[in-house]
Amino acid sequence: MKCEICGKEAKLRRALVEGVEMMVCYECSKYGIILPDKKPVTKPKRKIVPYSRDVFEEMNKELVPDWGKKIKMAREAKGMTREELGAKIGEKTTTIAKIENEELRPTDETVKKIEKVLEIKLFQEIGGVHLKKKSIKPLTIGDLIKNDRKSY
Ligand SMILES: [Zn+2]
Repeated sequence: MKCEICGKEAKLRRALVEGVEMMVCYECSKYGIILPDKKPVTKPKRKIVPYSRDVFEEMNKELVPDWGKKIKMAREAKGMTREELGAKIGEKTTTIAKIENEELRPTDETVKKIEKVLEIKLFQEIGGVHLKKKSIKPLTIGDLIKNDRKSY
């Protein structure tokens, strides 16, 4: 193999020289950026993750109303700056500001981190199994009185 720049017979490496991918020798690779070795052409195998219970439960979760305000208030209650909160959950200060203004809907993962750091609940259950269970037999005042009497 010959270097595509100087033509020298040498062990070549893939490099990006002025935006062009070339096979060059060690000396010439200095003119560009060395690229990692080409990975095999075969597509990476996609991990097939079966729907777990977690995923299913996740689908029923929705952010509570006024979540931005709740985050802001909880953060201030802890005497934390946006910067500090950002550092704790691995987000930029500007991102925290956007989340608090509800300009940006945080990912579920970020929400979980915020919940942990600020010790608040930001998810509420919507639809799904939980609500169905509750709606099977709503208790009426009559039921409550009956139950009350039984216990005496
Ligand atoms: Zn060369």
